[in-house]
Amino acid sequence: MCLTVICTDVHTPSSGMLPGYVSGHYSYDEAHIDLPRLAVFAGARLYRDDVVGIDRAGGKVLCRNRPPLPYDRVSINIGSTPHLSGVLGAGAGGFVLVNDQLQTLTDLNIFAAGDIAAMPNYPLEKAGVFAVRMGLPLAGNLRRNVQGRTLHAYQPQSNWLALISTGNCYANTPLNHGAPEDSSYSASLNLHRASKTPVSANSRTRHLTPAP
Ligand SMILES: Cc1cc2nc3c(=O)[nH]c(=O)nc-3n(C[C@H](O)[C@H](O)[C@H](O)COP(=O)(O)OP(=O)(O)OC[C@H]3O[C@@H](n4cnc5c(N)ncnc54)[C@H](O)[C@@H]3O)c2cc1C
Repeated sequence: MCLTVICTDVHTPSSGMLPGYVSGHYSYDEAHIDLPRLAVFAGARLYRDDVVGIDRAGGKVLCRNRPPLPYDRVSINIGSTPHLSGVLGAGAGGFVLVNDQLQTLTDLNIFAAGDIAAMPNYPLEKAGVFAVRMGLPLAGNLRRNVQGRTLHAYQPQSNWLALISTGNCYANTPLNHGAPEDSSYSASLNLHRASKTPVSANSRTRHLTPAP
């Protein structure tokens, strides 16, 4: 199986770290994902380009600068700011409608995940929590689809942790999304710069689902 990643950027920002990057808590390298390195790790080919369309009849991905690229399966993961006027399967709000197996409703050989995907069965917020957690099911289903096996349904988590940076290496969590019964929850977390993980929290953090 040959995996090709086509992306506009080769250093993609980690959006959750943007406020910390602007505040000077993180360096450029800490706040950006080195896509060439990641592609080598994953054994994928990486092309830096804009995808401008998909020729479904010809089975080709159309790029701005490169010749059309033949495909067997495609996964669309272009985030939430695309120009979607003529995009395949775009539903209300311009997002691509997918089934629980993350296949587009219009073409079962084309998948979508992350912010660009809209699941009729799960009206999800556009959050990295879901984009990240869709990764494994997406990869598994792409592989199963190529091998002619039955795909697995992705079931999003029902609650998750929201952290709001207070700008001084601390973050506040005003509520546990998706769990109204716990909405009075409030804690102050010390985000340790070196580990980028909370190192102290009050005793109620045990109720929370870890963020990705
Ligand atoms: C400032 C900010 C802070 C945020 N903080 C948080 C947070 O703390 N926690 C949280 O859970 N979520 C957060 N989010 C939301 C989170 O960033 C998104 O939900 C998540 O990044 C979506 O991931 P994705 O892979 O779907 O898309 P993206 O991360 O947007 O990645 C899409 C990639 O596709 C590339 N691309 C786009 N169009 C094309 C094209 N035509 N051809 C080729 N490549 C293309 C882009 O260059 C980009 O690299 C934040 C968002 C912002 C803007």
